[in-house]
Amino acid sequence: MDIIFKTCPECGKKSIQPIQDDYLEEDGVVIPSLEYFQCASCKAVFFDDAAMRRIEALRGISKRISSRKVHAIPSSRVKPA
Ligand SMILES: [Zn+2]
Repeated sequence: MDIIFKTCPECGKKSIQPIQDDYLEEDGVVIPSLEYFQCASCKAVFFDDAAMRRIEALRGISKRISSRKVHAIPSSRVKPA
């Protein structure tokens, strides 16, 4: 994997390192074995095009699942027992 960032845009240090690991997004979506980059200095995380495509593909799936859940909860509450 090519290192796309040599200098960290966040802190300006040359501390960008390639990482391959499960990546946990803020909303709990996990992208398994994702290749991405992290600054060893300020811990900022960066993604290349391939990583972005994997995230978008996985998030597209998770959005469809969560939207089904959102629809199911109100309809069951609306119906009187
Ligand atoms: Zn940094």
